[in-house]
Amino acid sequence: MSAPQSSAFLFLNNRSKNKGDFPDDAGPPFYGVIWKMGLAATETLTIPRSMQDFDVIIIGAGAAGLMCAIEANKRGRRVLILERAPKIAGKIRISGGGRSNFTNLHVSPANYLSDNPRFCVSALKRYSPHDFIALVKKHHIAYHEREHGQLFCDESAQQIIDMLLDEARGITLRTATTVTHVARSARGFTVATDRGTFNAPALVVATGGPSIPKMGSSGFGYDLARQFALKVIEPRPGLVPLTFDADTLGKLDGLAGISLEATVTLGKTRFTEALLFTHRGVSGPVILQISSYWREGDILTIDLLPGVKVFKRLKETKETAPKKDVRTALAHLLPKRLAHRMAEWARVGGRLAETPDKDLRRLAEHINAWRLRPRGSEGLRTAEVTVGGVDTRQLSSQTMEVKSVPGLYFIGEVVDVTGHLGGFNFQWAWASGAACGKAV
Ligand SMILES: Cc1cc2nc3c(=O)[nH]c(=O)nc-3n(C[C@H](O)[C@H](O)[C@H](O)COP(=O)(O)OP(=O)(O)OC[C@H]3O[C@@H](n4cnc5c(N)ncnc54)[C@H](O)[C@@H]3O)c2cc1C
Repeated sequence: MSAPQSSAFLFLNNRSKNKGDFPDDAGPPFYGVIWKMGLAATETLTIPRSMQDFDVIIIGAGAAGLMCAIEANKRGRRVLILERAPKIAGKIRISGGGRSNFTNLHVSPANYLSDNPRFCVSALKRYSPHDFIALVKKHHIAYHEREHGQLFCDESAQQIIDMLLDEARGITLRTATTVTHVARSARGFTVATDRGTFNAPALVVATGGPSIPKMGSSGFGYDLARQFALKVIEPRPGLVPLTFDADTLGKLDGLAGISLEATVTLGKTRFTEALLFTHRGVSGPVILQISSYWREGDILTIDLLPGVKVFKRLKETKETAPKKDVRTALAHLLPKRLAHRMAEWARVGGRLAETPDKDLRRLAEHINAWRLRPRGSEGLRTAEVTVGGVDTRQLSSQTMEVKSVPGLYFIGEVVDVTGHLGGFNFQWAWASGAACGKAV
């Protein structure tokens, strides 16, 4: 089965032809207490009755929403997914450079950031990477492992979307439908959209985070959380390139495109992976990883030659080849342009024999312990994830249900659980979606 294209409505069922239709019936008006977005919590509105009843309504047909729908559907629940984009699962489609890094073999709670770090444990335990791999195998999707246990499709991320749609047979899916209001009502929740109004005793918010707004991402899930008086941990961009201030940009001019393995440390957090110099700053996996921890003003310590003691190596060369230029010696260890720029920055040059050890030590420190205070990040425009979100202390870690609002659930990226780079964010989406789908 292929993904819905521009169709506004897809009923993934062959059980009943008409079950998923949306009649514009003019039944008696529905009266309810409506919490209208941005308005007073008790404003009473009248909504015309053009609605359908379901057991579960899920807002957002991304990774988490689809997985939740699959699990709830297996249990015989009548599920409606409302998706505002014309196509479902936009972020799966573009993930992993089009091949989707759909999970990671080494998932552990340590791979996640959250104000409440133990929250993710239960869901991750109950739906492991092997559960998702079993699904991938069942659908004969070829995949391969890359470094650090990252699993990618051999062919295309679209295969993951098709697999999820196939597994979701039986649910009702409505695309190009934007949720405008949510209200508590006698029937549980009433969800008003630009294409009609729907009811269910259970409402699952799977709207993701606001990163990459050009894909239609927004903070809608946070608005909904606040509407129900839930705390939202301040959202900020994660897995995002960092930018230099004008002074650093000037000093490191001409390095864009250079890539090398580096260790980046911030407090007790440390990653060793590839670093890439860009026209505006630094990127590459090691920077994306640390960016989720970085806050404005923080200083990063970067080792551009992990495992190599630069001072010792320069001293050795000074003894064996004293006439060699410092920059030339350094260029044996680092890409030439970078070696030259760093030597200029440290104000060290000339023959090794004439370079005092204290200067060599200063230069070595620039390489092994470069202290960088980024000016900022490239922001939500390019961030792969949003750190922060709905405070998990208000949710059941078993089911994702809001403790103070029975029947309301938050799953996936909208929740304050953010994974490292490498398939961890999808694993959280699958795991939190499955936990919710088994309970809802
Ligand atoms: C470029 C890029 C590459 C990535 N690559 C990877 C990767 O390889 N591996 C990995 O693990 N993670 C990756 N991620 C992160 C991963 O995509 C997300 O963490 C994951 O998609 C979150 O799933 P979700 O279901 O919570 O949210 P989403 O996938 O964002 O889905 C939310 C859905 O809700 C819909 N929605 C929002 N508001 C409304 C509304 N008001 N009404 C109706 N619908 C609404 C949105 O349109 C969207 O379809 C990548 C992210 C990006 C941006």
